Amino acid sequence: MRSLHVSDLSTSLDALFAEITELAPKCRFRDCTHQHEPGCAVQAAVATGTLDPARLARRSKLKDENQQYTPIVTGARGNKKTSSRGRRR
Ligand SMILES: [Zn+2]
Repeated sequence: MRSLHVSDLSTSLDALFAEITELAPKCRFRDCTHQHEPGCAVQAAVATGTLDPARLARRSKLKDENQQYTPIVTGARGNKKTSSRGRRR
């Protein structure tokens, strides 16, 4: 696999996991992490055997690593993992 620059990672992830990227708009939440959200189209695809759960796990891991280098203003929903947990309400 090619090495990726951090700044390109989000776009590259979308390209690498195109099948997940295509499902994402069908999720109930726009900022769905496809982990445990209700109404997640990606989870539904995993459940029906359409999508390999290993692919989803790998994507989540890469995205997680990417977030460590990306300043994120977390929304009010609070379903994102942050290092300063409990600070925000
Ligand atoms: Zn989802």
